[in-house]
Amino acid sequence: MQVATRPTGALVSGKDAGDDTEPDAQSPAAPDAAGGGEADGADAGAADRLADEGTKTGAGEARRTRARLLVIEDEPGIVDFLRRGLDSEGFVVEAAADGREGERRALSGEYDIVLLDLMLPGRSGLDVLRAIRRERPRMPVIVLTARGELEDRVAGLDAGAVDYVVKPFSVAELAARLRAHLRALEDASSTTLRGAGIEVDLLTRTVRREGRPISLSMTEFELLAYMLRNEGQVLSREQLLRAVWGEEQDRGRNVVDVYIGYLRRKLADQSGGSPIVTVRSVGYRFGEAG
Ligand code: CA
Repeated sequence: MQVATRPTGALVSGKDAGDDTEPDAQSPAAPDAAGGGEADGADAGAADRLADEGTKTGAGEARRTRARLLVIEDEPGIVDFLRRGLDSEGFVVEAAADGREGERRALSGEYDIVLLDLMLPGRSGLDVLRAIRRERPRMPVIVLTARGELEDRVAGLDAGAVDYVVKPFSVAELAARLRAHLRALEDASSTTLRGAGIEVDLLTRTVRREGRPISLSMTEFELLAYMLRNEGQVLSREQLLRAVWGEEQDRGRNVVDVYIGYLRRKLADQSGGSPIVTVRSVGYRFGEAG
């Protein structure tokens, strides 16, 4: 792993953390001077970078550990909004305005996380997403979708996005989600996963709920571990199928429902409650039932 070096240009200048006014994604904004932020960056992993960042925002002390976000989006107003808003949230934001350029940069290894619009010139967002999944399977990609386009959201998750954000969106919420996904990436290198009273030890392959051991088959274990790694996130059946059963399987998606059923029964607490929530017409989410 390489040591992070940061350009000292405008994109990393620390903004006053006290400025919490939030611009509106829909408001017209002056187009940003294009290409201002070419980084020459060797790049350390997100986990290292975020190790001591916590939830601090803005301010110079986090500069060395700022996460690098690539925005692939052709609407200058949105790109400008994201640059201004996320800079003060502690991110280094760079942008690509078409699909081909976005894909090239996303695969360059210079970024920790990608925000991807699906409607792009040059190359479709879904094609870019598939290329990222092939080349950089661990890099989180969040898709930007228009309001009400449920099909886009499902297509994005199925193609390997970790999350979606619906336009218009708030920068504070987006920043919180970006941080959550970067933390999940960090957790993925840990050997114990915890959530909703359940503890999974990846080395001994043991599972406990409230201290009580639970015996799982290998497939159930992989499914639970994947859901815990992505706690709180909506996971489509296709995502779960690919993550647990692999690309080459030819089973139907209902195998996912069957195994979710097994897991729910085994994980149920005294009152019969399970931490696996059904998200109607999309898939499942691991977390406290809400
Ligand atoms: Ca677009």
